[in-house]
Amino acid sequence: MRYISTRGASPAVGFLDAVLAGLAPDGGLYVPETWPSFTQAEIADFAGRPYAHVATEVLGKFVGDEIARETLSDMCDEAYATFTHPAVVPLTQIAPGGFIAELFHGPSLAFKDVAMQLLARLSDHVLALRHRTQTILCATSGDTGGAAVEAFRGRENTKIIAMFPDGRISEVQRRFMTTASEANVACVAVNGTFDDCQAILKLALADDGLKQAVGLSAVNSINFARIVAQSVYYFTTAVALGAPHRPVAFAVPSGNFGDGFAGYVAKTMGLPISSILVATNANDILARAFQTGRYTRGAVQTTQSPAMDIQSASNFERLYFEGVKRDGVETGRAFASFIETGVIDIPPQALAHMRETFQGLMVSEGETSRTILATFNETGEVIDPHTAVGVSAFQRTRKFDAPVIILATASPAKFPEAVSAVIGEIPVVPRRARGLADKPERFDHLPADIEAVKAYVLNFAST
Ligand SMILES: *Cc1c(COP(=O)(O)O)cnc(C)c1O
Repeated sequence: MRYISTRGASPAVGFLDAVLAGLAPDGGLYVPETWPSFTQAEIADFAGRPYAHVATEVLGKFVGDEIARETLSDMCDEAYATFTHPAVVPLTQIAPGGFIAELFHGPSLAFKDVAMQLLARLSDHVLALRHRTQTILCATSGDTGGAAVEAFRGRENTKIIAMFPDGRISEVQRRFMTTASEANVACVAVNGTFDDCQAILKLALADDGLKQAVGLSAVNSINFARIVAQSVYYFTTAVALGAPHRPVAFAVPSGNFGDGFAGYVAKTMGLPISSILVATNANDILARAFQTGRYTRGAVQTTQSPAMDIQSASNFERLYFEGVKRDGVETGRAFASFIETGVIDIPPQALAHMRETFQGLMVSEGETSRTILATFNETGEVIDPHTAVGVSAFQRTRKFDAPVIILATASPAKFPEAVSAVIGEIPVVPRRARGLADKPERFDHLPADIEAVKAYVLNFAST
């Protein structure tokens, strides 16, 4: 299996190189040259199989012969053994025809663990093969940093530096990073906002000297391996509800559109998904794009669901590329001009293709709170604000021709302040997160300045 860039101007590479690179050299995102697929009988055979088995089958289609099947199978077993629920991603019914898929039973209590645990093992494998080491610089508004630290702590070929905006993330989110005691982990509180952290990361990644010196890489959701890892739970949950013999629908709380695009991948591979509801908070660039055909950036607003406070959804480029019939020149033009203008007018045919699968819906802060409360009162389930955005979108849509699976992307215990303000109770903290409050923290402070961060990275990489 070869991987091409959505901007059409980079040479095709194999799976391992696509994983190692993240972003393609022409600034595009990697996608497979052709989409693999399963027969309906193969999908039916996933029923009742362990999660890691389905993960191996799905990953196997994209890895090709670059990793031996047994090695891949071991990686999946190990990655999903870190989850505390035997189903890895269990389903809970919350309404007639409405189910939540709990993606938060991993080490950092958010769905980013599902992909990050696998990515860490894939990275280890390819770094060892290539006799290389890497330094991951990560900018986080909360969940990605915790998931990345949990996945990469103690790994021999990798050093990881997690940058977060000082005082702007929850205490639980911070402690998931700063209590790691392994020598290959460093945490930095940046005196600025998340946007400052992200701008510093971009400058660092564009600095060839630094890149060469420390083997700099990033772990955000542009990495294609993360998308594939996320398409696995579309299969396991759909099959549990009767697919492929009957179709299912999904509601997906969305920010960078990695999760939503993973659903498109599952559908393209043959899973009968009748529709995917893309639910956003007030940062509704995606919801508006599907509704109006215009992808236009707004100002970032702070909400109760901070992991979705995003106004440019990187993975939308992958869907656009499919929509314009894989025209890399057109995709490159559209996304290069988006940087200057903040607008893309989606061509009618591409929009029609997108609407065959996706519908967009924006959920307000008031609706989010009311949904947390109503779900608690009606079912006893405590849901976090991100999940509530998905549940609210499901409830507002109603007219589904199939059972709906709402992706529950974070544990309520990760957002205790927001949840208890609504239901008047502090969510139960899962056992593995209980010691967090007593462990010593370890982090440094830096100004929001690329030169300061660069010096820090060089120094840490050489220790
Ligand atoms: C990252 C994240 C999302 C958004 O997922 P995307 O793939 O970026 O759309 C939603 N909820 C939580 C809790 C997250 O951490």
